[in-house]
Amino acid sequence: MTNIVLFGPPGAGKGTQAERLKTNFKLNHISTGDLFRSNIKNQTELGNKAKAYIDKGELVPDEVTIGMLKEAVKENQHGNGFIFDGFPRTVAQAKALDEFLLTLKTEVHGMIALDVNDEVLVQRLLERGKTSGRADDANEEIIRNRVSVYYKETSILKDYYQEKNKYYSVDGVGSIDEIANRLAEIVEKL
Ligand code: ADP
Repeated sequence: MTNIVLFGPPGAGKGTQAERLKTNFKLNHISTGDLFRSNIKNQTELGNKAKAYIDKGELVPDEVTIGMLKEAVKENQHGNGFIFDGFPRTVAQAKALDEFLLTLKTEVHGMIALDVNDEVLVQRLLERGKTSGRADDANEEIIRNRVSVYYKETSILKDYYQEKNKYYSVDGVGSIDEIANRLAEIVEKL
């Protein structure tokens, strides 16, 4: 089993690359952002709770997010492992993930970060906002808040995985294929 945390700021291309990894390595792709959006669309209780945070570009509280993630893993026990996309985003989430995977007798094998500079990110997200229908992509202020939350709360996870010798990074600028190849090289060795 291979479990990967795909890491990087909003707009780094995690969703696009996760789809490639999913196909190439037969992994389950679990995106907390997608799970929230589907809950919001279906107006579930969880979706209603999450919406207020997401619309402001803030993180959804850990207990809501962690519970949702565990359910998704339990419901998808097939394939060769998991790609976690957009999770963990806080140290509490990273610890919860470690404990949870331990109960399934497995672990995170590597975190791979997509490295992209901030201005490229903001431009990519504004561009995506024109067609994605995502309210959190349509407004530059909300986008900048998401990037800033990333640096305040999430980027520290690099240290968390580095201490366990599980941190890798790739240049996230280039064609989709080029970046997919950079990621594949790492995943093959995990
Ligand atoms: P992006 O990577 O472009 O920010 P996502 O689709 O991963 O987009 O996430 C969209 C929003 O969903 C985030 O801005 C946040 O509000 C919420 N969210 C997603 N994952 C998490 C998480 N692990 N913890 C807390 N909130 C989350």
